[in-house]
Amino acid sequence: MKKWNLIVDVGRCHNSNNCFLSVADEYQGNDHPGYAAEMPKHGHKWMHALRKERGQAPVVDVAYLPTMCQHCDNAPCIKSAKNNAVTKRDDGIVLIDPEKSKGQRHLVDACPYGSIWWNEEKEIPQHWPFDAHLIDRGWKEPRCTQACPTRALRALCVEDEEMERIKEKEGLEELNPEYGTKPRVHYKNLHLYKKCFIGGTVVANFDGVEECLRGARIAFHHDGQKVGEVVSDVYGEFKFDNLEPESGIYNLEISHGDFEVLQYEVDLSDSVYTGVHILEPKYY
Ligand code: SF4
Repeated sequence: MKKWNLIVDVGRCHNSNNCFLSVADEYQGNDHPGYAAEMPKHGHKWMHALRKERGQAPVVDVAYLPTMCQHCDNAPCIKSAKNNAVTKRDDGIVLIDPEKSKGQRHLVDACPYGSIWWNEEKEIPQHWPFDAHLIDRGWKEPRCTQACPTRALRALCVEDEEMERIKEKEGLEELNPEYGTKPRVHYKNLHLYKKCFIGGTVVANFDGVEECLRGARIAFHHDGQKVGEVVSDVYGEFKFDNLEPESGIYNLEISHGDFEVLQYEVDLSDSVYTGVHILEPKYY
């Protein structure tokens, strides 16, 4: 049985906001009986991107994390619902029945991802239903994936075994594996939002003149083990990414050809720019 999945590539999302707009356009002012009632014009974000800035100038980046209902296979909202108000279809899509869910405000808190929104006027919980009404009419993908100009969102209807292979091949992760909900939304490059980096600039002293140093090797050691190495770019800048926040002491060894090796220590809490590191020439 083929089931729907959504792949979100954090590295490709540039916050065009087209996913949010396509969902708003599809559901605001439109009632889809059996699938979703009209979305309120204000306050609801069934699909939207969270923003995170990492590091400090000049080594800084911004990541956007699109979030939405994860269409979990082990969905807490289904377990919390009364009157069979939330169901999972054979194709993997989770639906909140707009009639049966009336008055069930507790479902908002049942979703650990914060993906259920309370419609005050209609007194119903609502979420992004994967555009199931369009899928059932033969659409090949939901509107958000069509609308994304950078292909940060992709919808796939495949067998679970095939999806497992794709997850392995593309290095896809769950947003919050600790929730144990078996989501059908899979994230790529999630480290850009959830992990942190150590950055810096390498400069060399050429007879009293300091120049950005391209090609310097920066080796990183943690807990007595070498955990990686990066090379400085044309501006002398480097970035070592995908590190756990609050992971403690890292020792940097900065080296380049005829310059003295420089050691540096950083206690990592969050993404950090370690400043300018000046290499001095070796004197023979
Ligand atoms: S993300 Fe929340 S609303 Fe969606 S299926 Fe999972 S628990 Fe339910």
